[in-house]
Amino acid sequence: MQRPIKAYIDLSALTHNLSIARQYAPKAKIMAVIKANAYGHGLLHTAHALRNADGFALLELEAAICLRDAGIRHPILLLEGFFSTQELMLLEKHKLSTVIHHDEQLAMLTGCKLQALSIFIKINTGMNRLGIAPERFPAVIEQLSSNPAVSRISLMTHFATADGIPNNARFRGQLQVFDQATRAIPLPCSLANSAATIRYPEAHRDWVRPGLMLYGASPFATHTGADFNLKPVMSLTSRIIATHSLKRGDIVGYSGNFQADRPMRIGIVACGYADGYPRHAPTGTPVLVDNQKSRLVGKVSMDMLAVDLTELPDTPINSPVTLWGNGLPVEDIAHASDTISYELLSALSTRVQLDTLKEDAQSSLPRACLESK
Ligand SMILES: *Cc1c(COP(=O)(O)O)cnc(C)c1O
Repeated sequence: MQRPIKAYIDLSALTHNLSIARQYAPKAKIMAVIKANAYGHGLLHTAHALRNADGFALLELEAAICLRDAGIRHPILLLEGFFSTQELMLLEKHKLSTVIHHDEQLAMLTGCKLQALSIFIKINTGMNRLGIAPERFPAVIEQLSSNPAVSRISLMTHFATADGIPNNARFRGQLQVFDQATRAIPLPCSLANSAATIRYPEAHRDWVRPGLMLYGASPFATHTGADFNLKPVMSLTSRIIATHSLKRGDIVGYSGNFQADRPMRIGIVACGYADGYPRHAPTGTPVLVDNQKSRLVGKVSMDMLAVDLTELPDTPINSPVTLWGNGLPVEDIAHASDTISYELLSALSTRVQLDTLKEDAQSSLPRACLESK
């Protein structure tokens, strides 16, 4: 028998969340961010469910080509750009747009024999991750405007703190640096991640780039997706594969850190950190057993974890368990484990089978690419 762990991907929740992003940014085009295997949700069925987006953004060239091979014709932006002249050739061949953020990319573009490249110049407005310095922007845009390889130029930046305190000074500062650098340059702009899409209409501009919100989770630590009418897309589920009765003083799992302080009943769930469940989730982290609230007890091991069934005495072996998703926001698990939902979703292990919930949305997709990871 197969291990009972599965991640259900609710494709109708994806389309719902896309419509929420549209409500927040009605005038902008939406570039749906589907990097990291669509934040762990599976690339192709996610892209297909999000086909009403105006474009897609990701980092992985192979995944971008996989989208083209599956017949997806939307604009596709590579968020880190290209790393070699060979890759540059592939961009034109597959009509992929690219971010330009570094002098080495500029050098590769100079003298290349391409002619229809769509580029997004990324400006470092303060996050200090990727992007050219604002002072260098005038020279860079002049150089690229006169490069015959480039047929379309857009401008972008990325916010470090759009998910922080509302109207924080760093966010305001980045917006101001961008506006000053690009003043009087009438080119399409893209600034907003999910947090800025939800919170800052003034940052919407021509293209918004929501990622996390499309998967139904909140980019703000202070909220869950439901607060913005978002629906969770992934439900990580498994089953109870063993139960035990404990006496006071018995331990559960590795290290014996957890000791029963009274007679208890526990269940063993087929889900561990090698599936992507956070190893640091502490005793007390919420788990749903047969749709009822339970809690994690003891240390999470590689393939299994234990839940408290003392208050659910009739729960038999094989009872369904929800680790996160429908009825249990992934934000709650992230919060308990001192991490963020981005990490939990995108770190879902390849050994967890992804099952889509709406059949019609995936019927035309090649099977081999469905769980491409
Ligand atoms: C990941 C990413 C996004 C999406 O961010 P979310 O917070 O998931 O909405 C947007 N832009 C860039 C450049 C990214 O790397």
